[in-house]
Amino acid sequence: MVSQELLDLLVCPACKSKVKLVQEAWLACQNPDCRRKYPIRNDIPVMLIEEGDKYRDVSVENLGTS
Ligand SMILES: [Zn+2]
Repeated sequence: MVSQELLDLLVCPACKSKVKLVQEAWLACQNPDCRRKYPIRNDIPVMLIEEGDKYRDVSVENLGTS
């Protein structure tokens, strides 16, 4: 589980927008022009631009589990 306090601190490393927790397994950037999604692995959000890039074109519904 990622704590709400941590979520409140996290921003997309690419565009500095807020991110939203999705399916307890992803953090989705809320900027519609960015759309990067960052996986949470072993309760650690992987906030790397290159990770987010991989899932830009995957819709939130299709992310599944990281
Ligand atoms: Zn972003």
